[in-house]
Parts: sequence; C-alpha cells; structure tokens
Amino acid sequence: MLEELIACPNADHGTLGRDGDSYRCTNCGTTFPILNGIPVLLPTGTNPNG
Ligand SMILES: [Zn+2]
Repeated sequence: MLEELIACPNADHGTLGRDGDSYRCTNCGTTFPILNGIPVLLPTGTNPNG
C-alpha cells in the first residue's frame, strides 16, 4: 500500500494516515496534499499553499 511507502519528511517521524484528500503525519499532524494521486511530501515550513 502507498501508505507503507511514504513517511513524514521531518526527522524521526513515521507513517502518514489518510485524511480526506491529504495525508497527515501521525506524529506531528502535518498534512500533505495529494496532487494527481501523488502525495506531496514537503518538510514543515515549505507549504506551497501558504
Ligand atoms: Zn511528522
């Protein structure tokens, strides 16, 4: 499953959980949008949505 292949880019963080149209880090709560079916994993502070 895709969820097993992706993880939070922040250090020492783990897997992501599906949260509607995005993924959420189960550790820090950071959400990552899904664009064209691909989760966009950007470190905290680089949110393209502002
Ligand atoms: Zn995290």
